Amino acid sequence: MSPFVVPVPAPSYGLERQAIIDLSAIANNIRHLRALAAPAKFMAVVKADAYGHGMIQVARTAVAAGAQWLGTAHVSEGLALRAAGLEAPVLSWLHTQDTDFTAAVANEIDLGCSGWELERIVAAARELQRPARIHLKIDTGLGRNGCSRENWPALVAAALKYQAQGLLRVVGVFSHLAVADEPQRPETDEQLERFREAVAVAEAAGAQLEVRHIANTPATLSRPDSHFDMVRVGLGIYGLSPFEDHSSAELGLTPAMTLQTQIALCKDVPTGQGVSYGLNFISEAATTLGLVPVGYADGIPRIATGGPVRVNGVTYPVVGRIAMDQMVIDLGPDACAAFDGGSALGATAVLFGNGTDGGPVVEQWAAAAGTVNYEIVTRISPRVPRRYVGGAE
Ligand SMILES: *Cc1c(COP(=O)(O)O)cnc(C)c1O
Repeated sequence: MSPFVVPVPAPSYGLERQAIIDLSAIANNIRHLRALAAPAKFMAVVKADAYGHGMIQVARTAVAAGAQWLGTAHVSEGLALRAAGLEAPVLSWLHTQDTDFTAAVANEIDLGCSGWELERIVAAARELQRPARIHLKIDTGLGRNGCSRENWPALVAAALKYQAQGLLRVVGVFSHLAVADEPQRPETDEQLERFREAVAVAEAAGAQLEVRHIANTPATLSRPDSHFDMVRVGLGIYGLSPFEDHSSAELGLTPAMTLQTQIALCKDVPTGQGVSYGLNFISEAATTLGLVPVGYADGIPRIATGGPVRVNGVTYPVVGRIAMDQMVIDLGPDACAAFDGGSALGATAVLFGNGTDGGPVVEQWAAAAGTVNYEIVTRISPRVPRRYVGGAE
């Protein structure tokens, strides 16, 4: 070994920047949503690292809070749940030609099937000599995954033929809604009607379904007639609202993620000070700038100038461009007087939290970025350490 190689300590990010994940909030959100959905079963959707909240910790919390099922997009995500020791039923629904169906069947992961996957799943079942569990997916109008209505009877027949051969079990029929976040739109009614028809076709052909499911978070909240045997809830378990005109609190939910850092530099600047790349902001008077050491590499969209940052109980807008690692807030003239010790240096800077203290919330960042709350939390990058609070462990 080279004498020049010295052990490098594991990086310790300390509290420099962190996404604090409140597992008790997630547990409470699940209990609340479960009660709304009952007697339907509850699937906690934990894809995409649980919308940025940490898949394994959230999955454990969800099961402890009574979620009977876990849902992921990818089989690889389902396998990670199994590797972490989670034994609850898992459904994974978005596959490619390279998806490892054999590993999925071996690990008792239920598979969504829109058509072409059927032969591949059957091949895996043959190889393992054990039946696969599948949920047939019907496209009721979303136009993404799912079998067309034309091909549905043929898919059902093919699946039931393999079921009769002992190669698989058709456990469920499911679909996904397109506009449930806009409850006044008529297309959800059409989708539910097509879903009932597809279920009827499958049952008439002899399928004995354990679970019929179509509801996501907005449908779980606004359409009891969409609950069927199970609801699949993502956004809501993280405490976020899927509706433009209803806050988390109005829905009885508590946002689980707080994103915070600390002010890295605080300085007084004169009139005419330009700020950040492009110098898009020029101070109109002498003021105090606070440097917030979080940027688009941490997952805050570059476009989100104007987004809120709370320091010492006051919320300030981001001025100038958001850069890779940092952004700047305008603390106002003589701001230092507002801080103990005369400087905001080191003060906690909260980009968003649960909003109960009147502090900033994810939706304000979504508005500043022209996107939805889903995208803001999901894209908080791995550079931001997650810190778990409120959990059993
Ligand atoms: C992501 C996803 C969900 C969860 O949607 P939310 O709106 O976050 O509740 C449910 N079903 C499918 C098929 C999904 O892809």
